[in-house]
Amino acid sequence: MLEIEPSRLTPVPNTANGGQPKFAHPSEREFARILDFYGLRWIYEPLSFPLEWDDSQRAAQMMTPDFYLPDLDLYLELTTMKQSLVTQKNRKLRKLRQLYPDINIKLLYRKDFHRLLAKFGFGPLAESDIPRISRVLYTERQIQQKVQELGRTISRDYARRRPVLIGVQRGMVCFMADIMRHVSLPVRMDFMSISNYSGEDGSDIEITKGLDLSIEGDDVILIEDIVDTGMTLNWLIGYLRSLRPASLEICALLDKRARRIADVDIRYTGFDAPDEFLVGYGLDHMETYRNLPFVGVLKPEEGSRK
Ligand code: 5GP
Ligand code: MG
Repeated sequence: MLEIEPSRLTPVPNTANGGQPKFAHPSEREFARILDFYGLRWIYEPLSFPLEWDDSQRAAQMMTPDFYLPDLDLYLELTTMKQSLVTQKNRKLRKLRQLYPDINIKLLYRKDFHRLLAKFGFGPLAESDIPRISRVLYTERQIQQKVQELGRTISRDYARRRPVLIGVQRGMVCFMADIMRHVSLPVRMDFMSISNYSGEDGSDIEITKGLDLSIEGDDVILIEDIVDTGMTLNWLIGYLRSLRPASLEICALLDKRARRIADVDIRYTGFDAPDEFLVGYGLDHMETYRNLPFVGVLKPEEGSRK
């Protein structure tokens, strides 16, 4: 039976890592890099947890978890070592959990690296496509927060109306699915598809799937993933106006303003995006990467489409 005085059960600040963290193992540095990549804040070995005490009540055994992630309120202990050492670590971990039941701590095995990636970032692409993305630009958390804000603003602006949300396939799929659930109005929704092609007399836009609903006399909000030169949007606005809605406004998650050619009026904008080729959260590169839960920058050699 453990008999512990409550006063002993206080983790102590680990002062060995003042300033720059000195990683004890290369895998820790690698892991910190992964956390940075995902925009998850971390602190290296911030606290030591006394686990055993000697006769003079001094801590005789302590455990110092490798990382603390404030966003997840989670301590992580990395282990890539021999099974015998892992067993020892597991024993310490059990003791820590018993003594500090409110502490959320996990032991991370090498194979868990990829699981963690899958859970907090790359989703189904966790194992295959990491190297092609140079960095995460907007994390899942940042996007969700922004989408919620936009949904609330639209709900306020369109109070007592029934706007029609229109999406142009396929880039807006994530944005549409998320924002519609933050618009607390009886919205309707429709989709269309267009194709850009270059013919003899320059490039042209063709409707490959038109709207199913009539929008004449309706308040229409065009839900766009990204506006770049603005040429596509400019064309779409002209087309939708010809269908005689009562009003037409644009809601775009990403706005690459620096590259604007056609002067289009965007009522609702999520992020002012840099002039880089972005993928994820619906945006593709040759139909891949749409299912990343964040928006990332594709490595330049991969993004030479535009
Ligand atoms: P715009 O006509 O404004 O130049 O281009 C808009 C369209 O180009 C978007 O709907 C999107 O399909 C594509 N696009 C522009 N920038 C990006 C980007 O950074 N990533 C991806 N995946 N598509 C983009
Ligand atoms: Mg598009």
